[in-house]
Amino acid sequence: MRLHRSIIAIAFLTLLCCRCVSAQTSFTVGTASAAPGQKATGYLEVPAGVDAATNIPVVVINGAKPGKILALVSGAHGTEYTSIIAIEKLISALDPAQVTGTVILVPLVNMSSFEQKVPHLNPIDNKSMNRFYPGKADGTQTERASFLITKQIVDRCDYLIDYHGGDLDESLRPYAYWSSTGREEQDRISKQMVLAFGLDHIIIWRERPTDPAATRYLDNTASVRGKASIVVEAGHAGTVESDDLALLVNGTLSTMRALKMLPGDPHPIENPVWLDKIVDVLGEQLGIFYPLVKRGSYVEAGMKLGYVTDFFGKIIAEPRAPVAGVILHVNALPTLKKGDNIANIGVVASHAP
Ligand SMILES: [Zn+2]
Repeated sequence: MRLHRSIIAIAFLTLLCCRCVSAQTSFTVGTASAAPGQKATGYLEVPAGVDAATNIPVVVINGAKPGKILALVSGAHGTEYTSIIAIEKLISALDPAQVTGTVILVPLVNMSSFEQKVPHLNPIDNKSMNRFYPGKADGTQTERASFLITKQIVDRCDYLIDYHGGDLDESLRPYAYWSSTGREEQDRISKQMVLAFGLDHIIIWRERPTDPAATRYLDNTASVRGKASIVVEAGHAGTVESDDLALLVNGTLSTMRALKMLPGDPHPIENPVWLDKIVDVLGEQLGIFYPLVKRGSYVEAGMKLGYVTDFFGKIIAEPRAPVAGVILHVNALPTLKKGDNIANIGVVASHAP
């Protein structure tokens, strides 16, 4: 009888133990909690502070097989629509049964920007949601959201991809950012990721903040913390074109194959155009902008990028390219005021990194 009791007790303990193992392998971000082989949706709940609370949608895809954790984050700028829709496509396309490891997907960080159709900033506190990392628990909404994303996502992932694109006023050709941290293994993986993603122009992002308490950008917050990360950009000026969307969706799947998180072979780009730096050309006064170049055009130093008139049709400025390079994006709207971006020019690197 005593023996019988202890067998029952052992069986009961074993049952408890199994339950406890399966509870350990479920993965939770915010209110989204997925058991192995499951997909779960929920929210990162940013509490109210000096300004309003907000809820950031989040999806956890907990693969059937255990492995690394990949974070896909989009919509820091809530009107860069192609990047947001790309994550929506991936939410439905990714099958947990096929995934090794865990994927955290955040389609839209900046809900108020999306809702109010405000480019570049979070209209709640007028801050860019990709400039205040690692964030502050007692800051404004952008800082509190950044703090939560750092704690709940960046600190827990192994790899991160940050998605952007041309905002409402940017006619942009697709490109990626890659940066070297000097840590060999991390840089090898991030370079493998950016090549597997397949965008044919890659900016070598130099001179980034290295202080973990002042990392500014999301991907930099991840890379300073030792996680391989890249930025990808496609889409332009409020449009969601199928070619741009396909670049982001297929690029993500290829990167996941390179990271052995999906079966199959990646399709890396062999000879991308590496860009050494970006040169901004900014507006000097209010006027009407008429572009003379298109996104993706190659320009020589001194070439006219467009002209600016006053409201009576008189030409008041003829902005020119200060360097030779590729037009990564050019102002998509007639509105141009002092400090607005006229164009970003990528300077081609003399050799691959
Ligand atoms: Zn952006």
